[in-house]
Amino acid sequence: MSMITLEKIVSFAKRRGFIGPSSEMYGGFESSYDYGFLGAELKNNIKKSWWKSMVQIRENIVGLDSAILMSPKIWQASGHLTAGFADPLVECKKCHHRFRKDHLKENKCPDCGGELTPEKKFNLMLKTFLGPVEDEAAITYLRAETCQGIYMNYEFMKDTMRLKIPFGIAQIGKAFRNEITPRYFIFKTREFEQMEMQYFVSPDDKEKDKWFEFWKKERMNWYLNLGIKKENLRFKEHEKDELAHYAKKAVDIEYKFPWGWGEIEGIHDRGDWDLFNHAKHSGRDLSYFDEAIKKKFIPHIIETSGGVERALLAFLIDAYQEVKGGRTKTTESVKEMEVVLKLHKDLAPIKVAVLPLVKNKKELVKKARQVYDLIKPHFMSQYDEAGAIGRRYRRQDEIGTPLTITIDFDSIKQDDLTIRDRDSMRQERVKIEKLVDYLCSLLK
Ligand code: ATP
Repeated sequence: MSMITLEKIVSFAKRRGFIGPSSEMYGGFESSYDYGFLGAELKNNIKKSWWKSMVQIRENIVGLDSAILMSPKIWQASGHLTAGFADPLVECKKCHHRFRKDHLKENKCPDCGGELTPEKKFNLMLKTFLGPVEDEAAITYLRAETCQGIYMNYEFMKDTMRLKIPFGIAQIGKAFRNEITPRYFIFKTREFEQMEMQYFVSPDDKEKDKWFEFWKKERMNWYLNLGIKKENLRFKEHEKDELAHYAKKAVDIEYKFPWGWGEIEGIHDRGDWDLFNHAKHSGRDLSYFDEAIKKKFIPHIIETSGGVERALLAFLIDAYQEVKGGRTKTTESVKEMEVVLKLHKDLAPIKVAVLPLVKNKKELVKKARQVYDLIKPHFMSQYDEAGAIGRRYRRQDEIGTPLTITIDFDSIKQDDLTIRDRDSMRQERVKIEKLVDYLCSLLK
């Protein structure tokens, strides 16, 4: 098997309609990307799976959808407008390219070898103006993390959902950071999506440690259960001097990307930083009264914070396999490599493809269309009659479709069909009347 490079993944993602550059007609725009049908499905499936594992199956975690535009006072209180949320910026005196100092190996410009300016702090908040007057009073920011919306709704959610500590609030949504150097395709961009859960616990150290360890394990298992290979994942603890301004303790889940290990999710002990500061700046009492121990305290927070795009990139790379040609018995493919995207069934954009053996036999096409109509309300499915059957299998393997249905001449007489499994390539004959139940048993 040849090496999987990032370039290969970028070109595959574009060729097969997963992800392409944004604003391409105008030459692309600032590391922004658009998700085609398959990319959008994959993204939605990642979010659905996260929501199920973090909200649906947990009795004490509720979901939220808060606004992207919020009062700038929030960002003042959270520390994001001060030095806390800034990266070290240096500029080349010769070519004027800008870099993050902590990403550079040497003290010279990596592009032209020129001398660099002394570092200055560059704030990552994306500024915008609300209303028709562009003055100081109208300045606000696109949220840099979804969790601030959670803190704003801490009381609202606790009271309306009658939550008792420990409890969690989860949210998926867009976040924006004016990154100095966006890079590695969708790994670091200025617009991205976060999946965050804030777990409100008592300040007791033992309790906090217990939940920190609990969430570390749960979050790692989420990636493993969705098929990422164990050897490609690891924990990386932050040293004291690497901690974000709000964090007391932090561990990253890292994936082994083609360019090296990179963070896909962080588990953070945020202490009482957020609620304490919002209480102080807003004048609101955000303390919690614990009936069980008859004590009042500001809850501490254990946070799990993952990026949708980084997870997607890791899932895509991990699932991407090149196998020797001939797998699908198309004559031309014997000489070539075939791509099989071994995505977990929950993540696969298309779950089932329906293929009539040939397209020029009316009866066959009619039967295949009937089967497609039968299954499409239940599963994201695709009907494909264009080209030789081997080629069509190959197209589905490439986009990660776990099951492919073929309608052949016997299907007309016997009211049955063949289901082919993407990974084992095993074929099974199934009666059409039993099809939906059978697919459910394989896919749900
Ligand atoms: P990094 O140091 O890699 O920029 P970070 O430590 O600033 O990341 P956090 O603030 O912990 O990241 O954000 C939580 C998660 O949000 C990250 O694990 C990542 O998955 C995602 N994320 C953060 N910044 C970006 C970005 N610029 N582009 C894409 N995803 C991001």
